Amino acid sequence: MATHPIPQWFEGSEYTHEVAACITKYGPISRITLAHILGLSQGAVSRITSDLIHSGVIVETDPGEPMSTILPKDFTIPPTTERRGRPQTGLKLNRRSKTFVGIKLSGTMASAVIVDAGSGIVTGCHEEAITDTAPDMVVNVILRLVDDCSSEAITAGLPSPCAIGIAIGGHVEHDTTVTFAPFLHWEHDVDLSALIKNATGLPTGIYNDIDSMLVDACWFGPGVGSRSFAALTIGSGVGYSLAMHGKLIDCADKSYGLVGHIPLDPDGPSCESGHRGCSQCLTNDSIADQYSQLLGKPVSFDDFERDVHNNVPQATKLVNRTCFRLGTLIAIISNIAMPEKIMIAGESAFIAQRGLDALRDGIGAYRHKQASPVEFEILDHDWALWAKAAASRVIVDHIG
Ligand SMILES: [Zn+2]
Repeated sequence: MATHPIPQWFEGSEYTHEVAACITKYGPISRITLAHILGLSQGAVSRITSDLIHSGVIVETDPGEPMSTILPKDFTIPPTTERRGRPQTGLKLNRRSKTFVGIKLSGTMASAVIVDAGSGIVTGCHEEAITDTAPDMVVNVILRLVDDCSSEAITAGLPSPCAIGIAIGGHVEHDTTVTFAPFLHWEHDVDLSALIKNATGLPTGIYNDIDSMLVDACWFGPGVGSRSFAALTIGSGVGYSLAMHGKLIDCADKSYGLVGHIPLDPDGPSCESGHRGCSQCLTNDSIADQYSQLLGKPVSFDDFERDVHNNVPQATKLVNRTCFRLGTLIAIISNIAMPEKIMIAGESAFIAQRGLDALRDGIGAYRHKQASPVEFEILDHDWALWAKAAASRVIVDHIG
């Protein structure tokens, strides 16, 4: 593998890239704070930031614009430094200088948004059905979405997108080649990055979807500044990813579902592999089966979701049971991986919102009572956010 599919935004030393990354995460930020966080001299930071201003990557804040209050966990600005002299000018990313397309592919639909350089969504979410999952057909869908999104961005006076990020549920190598994509039924390796670049002319990175949600959170969301942060998703499958100091913990096998079969409930339903009460009981298909058994007739996951929102007692019962099991999984993750915070996301994250007490009971049942509470955040499901997360990966690679 010669080069990464996403070119670098600017030339510079390792420190130049670190300074740009730090400004992206924590800006607006003063030069003096940057120097303290990165352990660099103020002279070095001044030289690097003036290069970055010159190349249009960052800009100085407007007069009176406040500094960001988000800083790395446990970092405090030394008290002697900020007092002296005139007020510091802040530095921030030049957000409107570039745009990026982010696309989330599922087995049946592609969702696309355009984001600015700070991963703020600047267009509507464009969606198109995937009726044929052959790679060429999927590329045609992507091409139409890129055209639609780009037109909207350009009409709004924004720059034309400079790169594309695609998030898929599956395994990707070198950020270019899909080697396993169960929802798309691809049986051979597909160099999706090259196919899309040929069709659109834009550099394209391909990424695992859950990893993308986690990287997005650690650079542009609730994980910024945290030492360790985990994402857990529920929906058609169960997904998990962990970051330390904002960097993904990489493991060649993780896209194959490391937390898909964790034992959670000895009285739970059996999975295809013959486990009883493993974490497959949190998936949509299993929940549809369990709900069918509760009602004594075959029903779909959509029926369950509708009944949850209508407060049908059997649906509420299954929500609470599912949330206790989800809480058990969260406790296991907290006890073993020790993340500071867990983000719960995915198409079925609404279940967690509906059974918070049972979720906390599940966590409590497997944590020492003197252990600190597990910090978690439940994300409302929105395909636009998954698409944005794919674009965030591109930005991170572009900044280097
Ligand atoms: Zn299992």
